[in-house]
Amino acid sequence: MELVLATNNKHKITEIKSILGKSFSGILSLSEAGLCVDVEETGSTFAENAFLKASTVCKLSGKAALADDSGLEVDALGGAPGIYSARYAGEDQNDENNIKKLLSVLKEENDRRASFTTVLCLCYPDGKTVYATGKTFGTILYEKTGDNGFGYDPVFFSEDLKKSFGEATAEEKNSVSHRSRALHALLEKIDF
Ligand code: IMP
Repeated sequence: MELVLATNNKHKITEIKSILGKSFSGILSLSEAGLCVDVEETGSTFAENAFLKASTVCKLSGKAALADDSGLEVDALGGAPGIYSARYAGEDQNDENNIKKLLSVLKEENDRRASFTTVLCLCYPDGKTVYATGKTFGTILYEKTGDNGFGYDPVFFSEDLKKSFGEATAEEKNSVSHRSRALHALLEKIDF
């Protein structure tokens, strides 16, 4: 069976292919499937947003479709920025401004515990839907450390790696990342 990914993000596509590649006859990005859609993330949870993206791409392509929704959750902020991680600094967001806002909000905070979450949603053309979740835990640093990765990686100190995701190689990060954990959990749930 062919699988269409509800993304054109090259990093995500490579990681998904490396873990699910053997389980599907072909894995296509949105553009490879001939689709140009930008689904609005109007859900109030990671799962709702992942379902919105996967179900839309499944309907449009007529093939199985996989979508993910991820974000950073900070304990002392009651789980914020969560589903708003990409636009934490406002509509004109970028990684730099999102990190600046996070560090400023946490300036006086001693409880720095945080986690990244990914929820994956796989929709089949017959209506069947499978969800999988992956989490990775750590703390928010007081300043950026390392230039690798993207998003909040330079300020996320990984409990597993004992270094920031910004200092980790792609292989190190993938070995403990929320996204790879969700993908492995999904693999366990798919019956072929
Ligand atoms: P997405 O749903 O995977 O596109 O992630 C939404 C936002 O969460 C991103 O724009 C980042 O700000 C943040 N995020 C998700 N995953 C990661 C990660 O692995 N490292 C750093 N930031 C991440």
